[in-house]
Amino acid sequence: MPSRKGLGRPGVNYLVTGGAGFVGSHLVDALVARGETVTVLDDLSTGQLGNLNSAREAGRVDFVEGSTSDEALVDELMASADACFHLASAVGVQLIVDHAYDSLLSNVRGCDNVMHAAVRHGARLLFTSTSEIYGKNSVGALAEDADRLLGPPQLSRWSYATAKVFGETLAFGLCENDAAKITVTRLFNTTGPRQSGAYGMVLPRFVRQALDNRNLTVYGDGAQTRCFGHVSDTVRALILLIDSEAAVGEVFNIGAGLEMPIVGLARRVVERTGSDSAIEFVPFDEAYGDGFEELGRRKPDTSALSKLTGWKAQLTVDDAIDDVIAYELAAEREPAASLAAVAGSTNGRRETNVRIASRFRPAEHTVD
Ligand code: UDP
Repeated sequence: MPSRKGLGRPGVNYLVTGGAGFVGSHLVDALVARGETVTVLDDLSTGQLGNLNSAREAGRVDFVEGSTSDEALVDELMASADACFHLASAVGVQLIVDHAYDSLLSNVRGCDNVMHAAVRHGARLLFTSTSEIYGKNSVGALAEDADRLLGPPQLSRWSYATAKVFGETLAFGLCENDAAKITVTRLFNTTGPRQSGAYGMVLPRFVRQALDNRNLTVYGDGAQTRCFGHVSDTVRALILLIDSEAAVGEVFNIGAGLEMPIVGLARRVVERTGSDSAIEFVPFDEAYGDGFEELGRRKPDTSALSKLTGWKAQLTVDDAIDDVIAYELAAEREPAASLAAVAGSTNGRRETNVRIASRFRPAEHTVD
């Protein structure tokens, strides 16, 4: 395996798959802020090039529009990367339920291509898996070795967990057999500015509904709980972990500790937006289709992450709500920049290198 530059030193090249998405673009911002060179691979199916505007103003970001399903493209980009964050994925319960088959295939192919390319080129890799792999296990704070409790494969919701578990299992196998340098992370409910409500994520949906004075659609009785982490805290954890040699071959939960019922989140959003919206309870079957399985509770145990890196959440759910409100209000004033706007405008700023790699275009819904 070729030797690569040590992370944390100058001159490291990062590849971020899914870097135009919600978490990905915040990660690119943070990498650029510490002076790194970043290449983003994203197919813009759910991400937006406009999410990279501030990174583009601040530093050097090359953008390649293409899919992680394109093996040759992934190999080419990985060849010049010292480290890679693999975030590209079909995301959102709504999108997975609506496109279970395509999402499964693109997530599996993407993991296969990215992980094997990282091994071939000796690049350090961090893979973002999900709390969804724990399924319906609601015992309390879930540690990384907690059991998984999934419904039957014929229910489309569980296809996402299946694809991510494929990625995790592949990562652990490659670390053991091929001395790969991969860290697996499981992201619990991460939220903040740039998250889209279009694929099901609850906070941007509630904020948009409240700002439009529409009813907030709480699914079920709203007693189900989640722990909402701010994307800034998530990104800080991702970078701490890729910088850590001791994190190689290991898996870490990333998420916040405060558990909140969804109806409580809805009330908080109404309060903080000052909206006149009412709360409307929508049965799960109506929201997601017949036979949908919901989780009562999902809470992370993040002690492994804290022990290794000293990480602690610094922002609260109210910070996340306020930041999403501010973002949605700003987006009303100035809609997201289009590809043409970003590629075409120099404006005295440093120009992003935009390349469209369209050799492989399956019918898919990939890349966060
Ligand atoms: N949810 C809701 N109304 C919406 C969207 C989601 O009540 O408009 C609920 C959803 O049923 C779940 C919680 O909010 O109980 C979090 O949903 P999300 O899709 O954000 O994350 P996940 O279900 O993956 O935890």
